[in-house]
Amino acid sequence: MSASSGLPEPSLLQQVEQQRIDRLVAELKRRGVTNDRCPRCGTFDWAVSFFQMPAAHEGFVSPFGQGITGYIPVACFNCKNCGYLMYYNLRVIETSEVRK
Ligand SMILES: [Zn+2]
Repeated sequence: MSASSGLPEPSLLQQVEQQRIDRLVAELKRRGVTNDRCPRCGTFDWAVSFFQMPAAHEGFVSPFGQGITGYIPVACFNCKNCGYLMYYNLRVIETSEVRK
């Protein structure tokens, strides 16, 4: 327990994930993202998740009936008010130089 807030201390995993989110938000700002509010409802209250989005290359037909040919690492921002979802390709945000 934290002596100052009375709230439980975040786990190490939560701390590492929050640091990743902080770096992501800082990088988005560095690349010119200026508005942190939901584009649909104007709320500023997001849940952020990191996951692998399955992808299928155009024209791919698998003999096993599965079309997934790869995964895109994404950060998903979910508006807690209206449920609007925004995805960021982490191969661009976390590994590439700014293009503008
Ligand atoms: Zn919203």
